[in-house]
Amino acid sequence: MHMLCKCGSTMGVKLRTVIYQNKVEIENVPVFTCEACNRSEVFAEIKPALIDVIKRFGNSPEKQLLQFNEFNEIAYLMLRATDKKFAAESVEKIVEERINELLDLLLLAQSLVDQPWTDDLRKRLEQISKHSLSVNDSP
Ligand SMILES: [Zn+2]
Repeated sequence: MHMLCKCGSTMGVKLRTVIYQNKVEIENVPVFTCEACNRSEVFAEIKPALIDVIKRFGNSPEKQLLQFNEFNEIAYLMLRATDKKFAAESVEKIVEERINELLDLLLLAQSLVDQPWTDDLRKRLEQISKHSLSVNDSP
């Protein structure tokens, strides 16, 4: 996954910590970073999810530390793909396993008639499928 920087160099994706209002630290946010000029930009696909997380804190957030991978599947998958424990697995396999895991949880949530949990799982599955589509679309 690469993007061209304004300076002409290629930007790579890294998991970084984003700090909101000097109080809320959000770890493992996928960010495009240019090694030539140090410009960085939040990965467009996860911007809506990041805004969702930030909105929960309103204008005067408490000091805290969050793991973005707990809210967003792309961050979760990137974290897992860079984890040495899973180094032998292909990204496709990691994605497939996560989808199966989420589908199992979805069945459980539905059988418990837990609507908020069902909605959350659907949103997570959607994040993965949107992401896979955009990867296939790019050259
Ligand atoms: Zn640059």
